[in-house]
Amino acid sequence: MKLGIVGLPNVGKSTLFNSLTKAGAESANYPFCTIDPNVGIVTVPDERLTLLGNFYASKKVTPAAIEFVDIAGLVKGASKGEGLGNQFLSNIREVDAIVHVVRCFEDTNVVHVDGSVDPLRDIETINLELIFSDIEILERRIAKTSKGARNDKTLAKELNLLTRIKEHLEEGKLAKSFEANDDDEKELLISYNLLTYKPVIFAANAIEDDLADDGSSNQYVNSVREFAKQESCEVFVVCAKIEQEIAELDEDEKKMFLEDLGLMESGLEKLIKASYSLLGLISYLTAGEDETRAWTIKKGTKAPGAAGKIHSDFERGFIRAEVVNYKNLLDCGSYSAAKEKGLVGLEGKDYVVKDGDVILFRFNV
Ligand code: GDP
Repeated sequence: MKLGIVGLPNVGKSTLFNSLTKAGAESANYPFCTIDPNVGIVTVPDERLTLLGNFYASKKVTPAAIEFVDIAGLVKGASKGEGLGNQFLSNIREVDAIVHVVRCFEDTNVVHVDGSVDPLRDIETINLELIFSDIEILERRIAKTSKGARNDKTLAKELNLLTRIKEHLEEGKLAKSFEANDDDEKELLISYNLLTYKPVIFAANAIEDDLADDGSSNQYVNSVREFAKQESCEVFVVCAKIEQEIAELDEDEKKMFLEDLGLMESGLEKLIKASYSLLGLISYLTAGEDETRAWTIKKGTKAPGAAGKIHSDFERGFIRAEVVNYKNLLDCGSYSAAKEKGLVGLEGKDYVVKDGDVILFRFNV
């Protein structure tokens, strides 16, 4: 999974990105922690994995990972190429979801590009740039499709769709809220990979005092929540400055620090949960002496598709899956005991994988 962090300058993107990736990189020695200064790998905290790893005394425990991309440089006029804008916009095309950081804190020492704190105006500024960029993509496609549309019914239908989406965007609306007439149209809409079709999580960057009541006494946060509700987006309240401090701490210190603030989890954990929920993701596990590992899949993925996450050969040669819920496995004390109790299922290619399944795939090479 790849998440892109966007937002206007000076809202706290880099502070958040640095603290998230630092905290995430320290929680496990993931093989590729720093690919690029703007790309960071964060591991997904998962207690089940730790328990299973101990159970098998695994040599290696590999958590699921999320890639974060810090997409700086999105400013008013970016879609017109201002401030390297177009390059940044093309980076956003590659992500699965957008984390949109909005400034909900006042601080006279930190200049706001538009002179005042106003999260809804900021969201609109960014959204407009994304909309402009999408319109450009659509215009290019319309030009291409128009050529053949006169003699080709399918192309004519697509041209009609493209034109309707463009009109929708021109009203200042996002592609996400466009209503397709049928499944074919929906499939095409997805294939355009429009920026404003991507799921969005708002990170309301608030002040330390807002954390205890999850921002409910901060008027800026409330306005973001209201907006997000209309757009079916997730919101999480964070204080980038505090995250930066948390990232410097070890596990025990971190726990105490969070308790002092009246919090159960760090911003990173909140963000990971919000993204899993928004993107409809779950994890299944593979376990053994050599390695215990978590794999991220979309809810509803069937066994062969889940196997394909590990290796395409597993999907191609899929025979069956031996499946046991992680808790049942731990409770039974051993794999064979779980088998004896009938808790290990032999599942075929139509089995829909569940969150927390421990799976052993059988396949032909
Ligand atoms: P970016 O341009 O969006 O990447 O913003 P930065 O992360 O570089 O932050 C801009 C300035 O705001 C820096 O001086 C940060 O220290 C400050 N800043 C970031 N987050 C917070 C916050 O939660 N509270 C306060 N008061 N300042 C912050």
